[in-house]
Amino acid sequence: MCAAPHSLKLVGMSLPKIVLFYVFTPLADPEAIKLWQQNLAERANVKGRIIVSEQGINATVGGDIHDVKRYVKGLKEYAPFKNADIKWSDGVGDDFPRLSVKVRPELVTFHAPDPITVTEDGVRGGGTHLKPHQLHELMDQRGEEVVFFDGRNAVEARIGKFKDALVPETDTTRDFIDEIESGKYDAFKDKPVVTYCTGGIRCEVLSVLMKNRGFQDVYQLDGGIVRYGEAYGNKGLWDGSLYVFDKRMHMEFEPGARSLGSCVECGNPTPRYVNCAEGSCRQLFLCCEDCTASGARDHCPDCVPVPA
Ligand SMILES: [Zn+2]
Ligand SMILES: [Zn+2]
Repeated sequence: MCAAPHSLKLVGMSLPKIVLFYVFTPLADPEAIKLWQQNLAERANVKGRIIVSEQGINATVGGDIHDVKRYVKGLKEYAPFKNADIKWSDGVGDDFPRLSVKVRPELVTFHAPDPITVTEDGVRGGGTHLKPHQLHELMDQRGEEVVFFDGRNAVEARIGKFKDALVPETDTTRDFIDEIESGKYDAFKDKPVVTYCTGGIRCEVLSVLMKNRGFQDVYQLDGGIVRYGEAYGNKGLWDGSLYVFDKRMHMEFEPGARSLGSCVECGNPTPRYVNCAEGSCRQLFLCCEDCTASGARDHCPDCVPVPA
């Protein structure tokens, strides 16, 4: 008897999706693109974060699958964004609290003095792009020599990274230049270095900066960890979880992914970051579900030290 209302509810049920993409292409009037994007995203009813600059666009937005599709369709109607590589993943619903569309001087910044040249073909002078299978070809040819270089912040790498990757000591993007110039990676300047990041955008710029500083054989993982994980899951060179910048906080490419991080309270493996309960701190720390549920820990180890 109650089958009808139930099935009606199913028809209207939403399927939350998140898309991630960037396009490096010269935009003469980023303010106009911003207004168009704001309008497009609002009409499509998607939320998230969109950055526009004279260098192109970078966005992560989410919403119901139909709404996200409408947004993507509108996006691709603009010729310079027609070939945008859209990376889809499953959301959990209300993945972003709001819509933010901003114009910035650069799409990604490492606060480096280096000029970045963007043409219709993308960033000039970066590392050679490697599709996931091309990365494996490089490993087949030069396996022992190949070095992975994590282009993300250290917090992200703590729960997942490529095998034996170099993880620079970075809290913010500002720290990368200091790290690269510190001399501690000089031994790799004549080795094949593969930079990687979440979706690939940071490596477009980071690989230029590394080449400018004497790294001679630089590659960048095309489509980032996202595309690699889709292709190889837990069966490749990726280890652990992927840190993501939405409500999910982390994602796994296949069930059974190993957890590299461990709970600060009990030491059990967990990919779960939470914000410190201290309002003036808000530092991210790893805490398993049990320790959160039991109330054993809601402050970071700096605010409330872990008992010895
Ligand atoms: Zn725990
Ligand atoms: Zn704290």
